[in-house]
Amino acid sequence: VPALLAEHPPLIEQVPGIPALVVDNEANLAALGELHSQPTGTSSFLHISGEVGIGAGIVLDGALFRGVRGWSGEIGHLPVHPEGRPCRCGGQGCLEQYAGQEAIVAAAGLARAELPADTATARLAELAEAGDADALRALHDAGTALGVAVAGVVNLLDLDTVVLGGGYAALAPWLCPPVLAEIGARVLTAAWSPVTVRPSTLGAEAAAVGAAGSVARRIVAQPAGWLARAG
Ligand SMILES: [Zn+2]
Repeated sequence: VPALLAEHPPLIEQVPGIPALVVDNEANLAALGELHSQPTGTSSFLHISGEVGIGAGIVLDGALFRGVRGWSGEIGHLPVHPEGRPCRCGGQGCLEQYAGQEAIVAAAGLARAELPADTATARLAELAEAGDADALRALHDAGTALGVAVAGVVNLLDLDTVVLGGGYAALAPWLCPPVLAEIGARVLTAAWSPVTVRPSTLGAEAAAVGAAGSVARRIVAQPAGWLARAG
């Protein structure tokens, strides 16, 4: 950050009323990116970023729900098999152990060492498109685990839209059907209030769009400081 400040002072120079630097986690910023990119869309949704870890951004009535201490959205550590695999969090059977990128790659029979994190998703999609049975089963199982966790969140918060972002976006054609099946089986209101599950349209830029949008919106909300500086 100090190097960035030295290199780009005009970009992040302090403007009265506007924080010079905004820090947030990727899952939250990606959810905001989704919100800002679709201003006429739904204002309440769950955005799930599926990478090695799985994070969620909860957007309620157009605002990010951060939790009392800012730790909301740890959907990757919701238990989907309470007696299951040990997790790095100290718990057992967390979603991340069944639907995190490493878990899907291993279940598909791919060698993790030969598959860098940034190419794993593309490789899985490629194999699934080609009809590879192991990849298809791995994605189906991951989608089922994800659906169990998502159904719990939807039951709790009564959301009607779930957005699959991060690495999940490219895998959505294979993840959405089992996620929807679990929602159909587990969400009390699913029969008469359908839940939409769709991929994010922003791809890898979601978090950057969210970060830029959150700063731009503060300027729009309090333009005086920005205008004084510009003048
Ligand atoms: Zn865990």
